[in-house]
Amino acid sequence: MLLKSLMTMMGLTTLAIPALASEDHYADILKRAYVSSSSISQETLDSFRVSEEAEPGAVKELCAKIGLRFKKFGWEEDPCGKLPWRATLRTVKNNPLLFITYGTGSDATLILSAVHPDELTPIPMGFRLAKHLSENPGLVSTDQQVIIAPLVNPDGFFAPNPTRTNARGVDTNRNFFTLDWYEKSMTWWKTLKMKKLSHFPGHFPNSEVETVFQVRLIDEFQPDKILSIHAPLGFIDYDGPGDQKPIHMNEAERQAKALAGAISQKSKNYRVVDYSFYPGSLGNFAGNERHIPTITLELSTTDAKKVDSYWNQFLPGLLQAISYPFKKTIERTNNTQKFYSDFNDKPRPKTDKT
Ligand SMILES: [Zn+2]
Repeated sequence: MLLKSLMTMMGLTTLAIPALASEDHYADILKRAYVSSSSISQETLDSFRVSEEAEPGAVKELCAKIGLRFKKFGWEEDPCGKLPWRATLRTVKNNPLLFITYGTGSDATLILSAVHPDELTPIPMGFRLAKHLSENPGLVSTDQQVIIAPLVNPDGFFAPNPTRTNARGVDTNRNFFTLDWYEKSMTWWKTLKMKKLSHFPGHFPNSEVETVFQVRLIDEFQPDKILSIHAPLGFIDYDGPGDQKPIHMNEAERQAKALAGAISQKSKNYRVVDYSFYPGSLGNFAGNERHIPTITLELSTTDAKKVDSYWNQFLPGLLQAISYPFKKTIERTNNTQKFYSDFNDKPRPKTDKT
């Protein structure tokens, strides 16, 4: 009650107070009222960069931390191995955002996992796939490139109990700058999600470094297809050309949409659904607006003990996602502008010229 009156005194009554929230949540909301609305902007960019000199040490330190955390969940493997991981950005909790690339071809596939680390089962999948590709270099042909970001939300993973949101309480899969973000995001969150904190889309789109990280990977590598691993809904969902269009598809749409079926077939005929997308989600941003076939693979439980069986079931599907022959045709939409296009640029040398 004290907190409630305090908030009223401070004029914070219009803040999102979840209808179902317990008293514990008010502290979180109050805290959030005092952080800046956006964690990242052109002005704060430098503080999110990992410099070239700091990169190897930062990656090593993070990998050791992930290894310890893996043991807690009964995963006895060394997650990173000795692979050439990259990290050019870090989170507000100073955890580098890892990615790795295989091949240099033009047919690119982006694979993401652990966007929502409270969903435990997808977490080792990205790391295992990276190792598998390292051990079997023939799997990525000369005309292909694979980019894997296995732990998109490390801060959520390192929380005492892993959270869906990042350290700032934002669901980064609702934070992409989609055309419907301003119109729908808050309304959907308040009504459909009953202001559930774990689904909070942020105060602004693209406000989180984890979102910007994914946007950067898309901008830089221009993937022809994307696969993001989640749990526990137990299906494959497709967003992109031909989505929600059962008939009258053109050849490109038909081929893009068939990607979901091809992955399903290689994954013991896993169920495919035609779900729609949310404001600010990756499927909406990449699949719907940028026309990049985007697959969400939802494993069927978050039970940490099931990782081995999911790995065996879905490895052929993951490899299918990589080898499936699809080259996206460049289509201009209203929202294809690059964000932070100078993100990886080194600071420009100062000159006297004006
Ligand atoms: Zn999820």
